[in-house]
Amino acid sequence: MKTMKAEQLALPGVRQLTPYQPGKPISELERELGVSNIVKLASNENPLGPSPKALEALRDEIGELHLYPDGGGFALKAALSAKLGVSPAQITLGNGSNDVLELAARAFLSPENSAVFSEHAFAVYPLVTQAVGAKAQVAAAHDGSAGPHYGHDLEAMAALVDASTRLVFVANPNNPTGTFAPHADVERFIARIPADVLIVLDEAYNEYLPPALRFDTTAWVRKHRNLLIARTFSKIYGLAGLRIGYGIAQAELTDLLNRVRQPFNVNVLAQVAALAALGDLAFQQQSYELNRRGMQQLVEGFHALGLQTVRSYGNFVMVRVGPAAKVYQALLERGVIVRPIANYGLPDWLRVTIGLPEENARLLQALPAAIAAARG
Ligand code: PMP
Repeated sequence: MKTMKAEQLALPGVRQLTPYQPGKPISELERELGVSNIVKLASNENPLGPSPKALEALRDEIGELHLYPDGGGFALKAALSAKLGVSPAQITLGNGSNDVLELAARAFLSPENSAVFSEHAFAVYPLVTQAVGAKAQVAAAHDGSAGPHYGHDLEAMAALVDASTRLVFVANPNNPTGTFAPHADVERFIARIPADVLIVLDEAYNEYLPPALRFDTTAWVRKHRNLLIARTFSKIYGLAGLRIGYGIAQAELTDLLNRVRQPFNVNVLAQVAALAALGDLAFQQQSYELNRRGMQQLVEGFHALGLQTVRSYGNFVMVRVGPAAKVYQALLERGVIVRPIANYGLPDWLRVTIGLPEENARLLQALPAAIAAARG
């Protein structure tokens, strides 16, 4: 009997996929180096840990793990609905907002059509597009400023939309660049996209925007039946390990996503923790302030070392270090994990998550020697 390699059985898009590269876990570097006291500034996690209210809710729920979760997420959707002013029928809960992005790709993309996104945009957009065999239409980055460009060029993205396009991904702020498009520009962009093309507006870092830049984007959902907003509990709410995010769209679109969703995609603990964290305003404020100050500390520190940064609106910042793969390695040897982003087309840059003040200081202290080692 002829034997076929598993590789040959998979869809062409899957065969050519490069898996998502996560930040290196602390435990892995500990095993490799045999040291402790490692600082991880690599995955845009909340350095304060989880919301204390979420921890309390988790302790109360732990005895219920023999039961399936509420597949409809009633309590959490009710709380989100009250907070956001949308109906529960407009909310999709996901196993991380990543799940919501994937649901959108599975419901709208196929090998016959394509998705538009920006150069240097979040890695999951090309990944889910390719996984379903759809074509990627990538717009060169451009953000209106002088010099090199890192942000989304919304004009160019709208111009790329053609008869084959079924989905457009916009990250605002974007990861890894941290760039932000003003809401007036996004609104104009949405108005330009044909009604039969789904717009996924990914707002994973929305809660880190300064008050002057905040805007109720959910109001757009009422006007546009082709708009899906994705948000997460992984960042300011401090629950990345539990995997929970959500989508906001009109009920009809939400119903479509619900058809491809796993019935119990969000586990019991994630649901109760998210509900508690949503109400923990003090923790959100504390996380916001810590991020604001840490951003300042790191950016000033990088500039003092003569390194270039790009203005970031998230809980991370890109810094240009030259031979970034080598600097990353040299930092690992010094017990500091950051994120190389050559896979985003940014081989000179590292992405650094804003940590606690002492963690930021550890990086700033280790960086000159790491750069010298890399260049030497
Ligand atoms: N969108 C963007 C822009 C992100 O940076 C991330 C996290 N890295 C996500 C979505 C997904 O986050 P999660 O699945 O943890 O909600």
